[in-house]
Amino acid sequence: MNPMASAWAPDSWPRRPAAQQPVYPDPNALAAVLGQLRQLPPLVTSWEVETLKHQLADAQRGERFLLQGGDCSESFVDCESSVIASKLKILLQMSLVLVQGAGQRVIRVGRFAGQYAKPRSVDTETRGNVSLPAFRGDLVNRAEFEVAGRTPDPELLLRGYERAGLTVNFIRALVEGGFADLHHPEYWELPFARQHPIEDEYHRMVQAITASLRATEARTGASLPDSQRVDFFTSHEGLHLQYEQAVTRQVPRREGWYNLGTHFPWIGNRTRALDGAHVEYFRGIRNPIAVKIGAGITPAEAVALCNSVNPCNEPGRLTFIARFGASKVEKELPPIVAAVRQSQANVLWVCDPMHGNTETTSTGIKTRRFEKILDELEKAFAILRDGGAHLGGVHFELTGDNVTECTGGACGLTDADLTRDYRSPVDPRLNYEQSLEMALRLAKLLSPPAN
Ligand code: PEP
Ligand code: MN
Repeated sequence: MNPMASAWAPDSWPRRPAAQQPVYPDPNALAAVLGQLRQLPPLVTSWEVETLKHQLADAQRGERFLLQGGDCSESFVDCESSVIASKLKILLQMSLVLVQGAGQRVIRVGRFAGQYAKPRSVDTETRGNVSLPAFRGDLVNRAEFEVAGRTPDPELLLRGYERAGLTVNFIRALVEGGFADLHHPEYWELPFARQHPIEDEYHRMVQAITASLRATEARTGASLPDSQRVDFFTSHEGLHLQYEQAVTRQVPRREGWYNLGTHFPWIGNRTRALDGAHVEYFRGIRNPIAVKIGAGITPAEAVALCNSVNPCNEPGRLTFIARFGASKVEKELPPIVAAVRQSQANVLWVCDPMHGNTETTSTGIKTRRFEKILDELEKAFAILRDGGAHLGGVHFELTGDNVTECTGGACGLTDADLTRDYRSPVDPRLNYEQSLEMALRLAKLLSPPAN
């Protein structure tokens, strides 16, 4: 047993430097809220968490593929049925494309039901001669630039947990009710989708998959496993450590501690320091976890991370989400893949082609270009294949809505279109059509070459 592991407890992280934590003016109010949070029922269960870990272990062996996506940051006002349903619809459509086009079983994980806290590059925001705490997401403070709004408010931790609960409840009810049944892909149609040419290719796939499903079922006289019900899992950046600690629980008949606020928390690129508080908290929980790795990480650090958060080398436990950017990935990723491979650490390799490709237009708008996103994805795929590993999943910021936040793709959005319907308060997301097109391109990349 690793000697470090015995020293872990849900509250061992404050012994290490904790980056990106809000400072609350009233510690007693915070303590009272955390006490309430500790009493609330969990949002997910340990057996769901273990099921996901097994599926991620399958993905490590190349037997499944992870599709993870959603908003950069969820907001409380968007905790609303149509917004949640459209996120499920686009993830279902993309996964259908991957199942049909690439012949892969897909694990669907949303950046939802708790993605409410954001890391910031600076602690304060200054406008004119006024400096206030930076907006850190709805879990922490409010976006309005005024003193009361920007002061971290512990009550928001409860509001966030409750909204995450409402979100997960609605998703479960939809899935139970047959929304995700492969026999009824018409349930996932989005109202505006018909205007898009990319839809034709998608509909051809839908027809092919329903026809082959019906043929197989007619032949065997039974429903195919996985066809009537697909699962969604939840994920968010485990950033706010007091919140994460409060939702960390022990359960009957299982050993260890589970974060039961989400199935699959991840450590952000800014908080992955080896001796930092986030790595300390994450190393002790039993959930499958991911670590975002970006430019500047060394091969030795990557291997040390594996040893620290997965000392028993448990399959499915650790995912690396590579987010280097299209211009850096070829230089930075190969030595990391080689070092991890040499260490024999079990890692699921996922590409986030969004966060290393953010740019600002000449008029100051934050955007990402479809072509660069695809470029990084293609490069990561080749690097992993050539490095004796494989791309086992993707991580996108996307929405089922018709927004104009990223440029390019078949819809041909340009910088001039960005102001038309830019809704994200943080990072730009692929819109409905760009997401579907990305899935079609990805399916081609993943499909085995025809003989
Ligand atoms: C994010 O996922 O929104 C994010 C901040 O990413 P990263 O940690 O990779 O920068
Ligand atoms: Mn983001």
